[in-house]
Amino acid sequence: MQILDPWSIAYVEDYNRLIEVFGIDVITEDILKQLPFLNRYFRRKIVFGHRDFQLIVNAVKNNKEYAIMSGIKPSSTYHLGSKITAEQIIYLQQLSSKARVFYAIADIEAWEDNGIPFDKSIEYAVDNVADLITLGLDLKRAYIYLQTKESRVLRWGYFFARGLSRNLLESIYGEKHLGMYMTAMVQVGDILLPQHPDFGGPKPTIVPVGVDQDPHIRLTRDLARKYSGKFKFIPPASVYHKLQWSLKGPGYKMSKRDPMSCLTLSDTPEDAYLKIKNAFTGGRETAELQRKLGGKPEICAVYQLALYHMEDDRKVRQIYEECKRGLRLCGECKHEIAEIFVKFLKDYQHKKKSNMEKARKIIEDITAKY
Ligand code: SF4
Repeated sequence: MQILDPWSIAYVEDYNRLIEVFGIDVITEDILKQLPFLNRYFRRKIVFGHRDFQLIVNAVKNNKEYAIMSGIKPSSTYHLGSKITAEQIIYLQQLSSKARVFYAIADIEAWEDNGIPFDKSIEYAVDNVADLITLGLDLKRAYIYLQTKESRVLRWGYFFARGLSRNLLESIYGEKHLGMYMTAMVQVGDILLPQHPDFGGPKPTIVPVGVDQDPHIRLTRDLARKYSGKFKFIPPASVYHKLQWSLKGPGYKMSKRDPMSCLTLSDTPEDAYLKIKNAFTGGRETAELQRKLGGKPEICAVYQLALYHMEDDRKVRQIYEECKRGLRLCGECKHEIAEIFVKFLKDYQHKKKSNMEKARKIIEDITAKY
């Protein structure tokens, strides 16, 4: 059976199987039709599953308040996987003026999982928040915090821990050191924070995540139900996107742990170009075979870059079709996609520079409060 472990999963072979085994609901056309507009992840079925997303759709339709909860482990700069989650947060925020974002800088997890000292986390946090702003977050409707400074999530983490046994945590996450289980409890506090009385109490909350994060969602939903008598929690909803592979291709998740196969938003344009040029493709052994049989975009890391991150639907379809029909060779195709990505990166990094001060001020204000 496929085990979903947020700290070590590499690759999901069969999303349909996952849907079946973990009882994830499929994002249907009926749901998509109810949304005022779709971002490319929804349009292209990269977001494939959900739990209780209809609650959020209803809130959008009825102009009711809802929260979007997410966060980042500040252990490095944003890579393309972090970009997907950030763009999902921003999309869900843009769906309604009644939406508010809660964004946790998971410095406790960065320490427990990666041994990153808290002062180092702060440097990454500034960079991560600058990315979030540059990608389009509306700061007026956002609450950003550091886990170590947000006593409400720490208190709730301890409080809800009473509802759990070590055996249960082990069955969800596998065998980990104690700090990782404590991290999981703090994340329960994070996910429920938008429903804290200080933030107006129970409300529909959506957590947009890669499917590898589902264990946190299931655990939090169980605890939300367990303690609903006391807090009247609404179990948090979630939407799941497919995982971005590393540039090594299917079988490898894009992760900061493997920098050479991971594209980050802080890569120099030259490095990004080189990484894409060296990426795994779905090309055939020879150009002749490629022309005869066509390529395999479904296993190509370069095509996946276009599919996940290129805005123009028409262009993405064209790449796919030309590849399948043998009208594209990998060398030229990689060059074309790398050039597009490099241009994006240059514009993006220029824009991000102007947001660094704003991000620094946000993090300084958080740390100065305590
Ligand atoms: Fe991938 Fe392009 Fe090669 Fe097709 S032609 S396999 S999309 S690099």
